[in-house]
Amino acid sequence: MKVPMVDMLAGYPPIREEIETAVKTVFNKANFILGEEVTKFEKEFAAHNGTKYSVGVANGTDAIRMAIIACGIKPGDEIITSPFTFIATSETISQSGAVPVFADIDPVTYNLDPKAVEKKITKKTKAIIPVHLYGMPCDMDAFMALAKKHNLRIIEDTAQAFTGKYKLGGKDWKYLGSIGDCGTYSFFPAKNLGAFGDGGAVTTSDDKVLEVLKQLRNHGSKVRYHHEMEGFNSRLDTVQAAVLSVRLKHVEKWTEMRNAVAAKYAEALKGVCVTPVVPANCRHSFNYYTIRFDSKAKRDNAQKHLTELGIANQIYYPIALHLQEAYAHLGGKRGDLPVSEAVQDTVFSLPMFPELTDEQIKTVTDAVKASLTVSVSK
Ligand SMILES: *Cc1c(COP(=O)(O)O)cnc(C)c1O
Repeated sequence: MKVPMVDMLAGYPPIREEIETAVKTVFNKANFILGEEVTKFEKEFAAHNGTKYSVGVANGTDAIRMAIIACGIKPGDEIITSPFTFIATSETISQSGAVPVFADIDPVTYNLDPKAVEKKITKKTKAIIPVHLYGMPCDMDAFMALAKKHNLRIIEDTAQAFTGKYKLGGKDWKYLGSIGDCGTYSFFPAKNLGAFGDGGAVTTSDDKVLEVLKQLRNHGSKVRYHHEMEGFNSRLDTVQAAVLSVRLKHVEKWTEMRNAVAAKYAEALKGVCVTPVVPANCRHSFNYYTIRFDSKAKRDNAQKHLTELGIANQIYYPIALHLQEAYAHLGGKRGDLPVSEAVQDTVFSLPMFPELTDEQIKTVTDAVKASLTVSVSK
């Protein structure tokens, strides 16, 4: 049985009518750019996250880019982030004129390690971008303490982690992305809250940051053709906002379903490989389900075996950023960030979406188990 990585259509039938009505409404009003559906979605999204504001933007990459600028980061400033993430996290740092500084990750959560971060703080450091990778919450208590001690901004890359939660100080639940100065989100179709195309958002509770974000996404202007600064063309599309408002109502249920799939994967793979260990006081959003083997050979073998059986799988991410050609000028080399390097060679991600059936889960986990005994031809 073939199993896809994600099945965008599996959850569509029950909401098809509502989405098609919402989209047709926009078509008929033709309010395609910053229509009222955008404002409506922004209010709903902020309310969901427990932040004062959210600003809809064109994609999750621009969300990080504009959050960096709105937080007052200037050319030459340093921002510390994870080497084990999608390049969007770091390319937006460089493109804003700042310098990405990579600190190593935690071997259990695969997220940025606060102790490694502290060692990299210099006089030039102005911000940290923790990435809640796969939907796994970062150690936000530690990052907030670092921010306070060193006067740093925190931008949470929440592209993979919308609906994930963290209990601050072990007490109050907070949604990921609502803890630092800004949370940035992607509505790329395969994320927890996917649009029918590209989309993104930034959340904040800071009035000054909000004001800059709103200008930045619209060429730096509040009043048309009056530009207080240069900005971007990066608005959330009205059609996408209409889709997102409908899907937002279902996203909590979908995250519960993802967590149920994850529990079944973990049960079936007990003793076979390392499955995600969710820290106490956290809720994982399971955008991806990532397992780890004790050797690269076993990981590569498992990957080949699943691929031969038609079971989709993916390595997120095969080359840590400090080893990428794009960052050769920063002088990173093998051995600099040993945890990231070991993890990139031994992880891979299994199919994950809310509607994954028991039969599909069994097909996947049986194949992972079998891969430890079969030798796969090249
Ligand atoms: C998807 C993703 C982004 C970028 O989002 P886009 O909407 O594709 O621009 C940024 N960071 C991480 C960790 C992501 O997974």
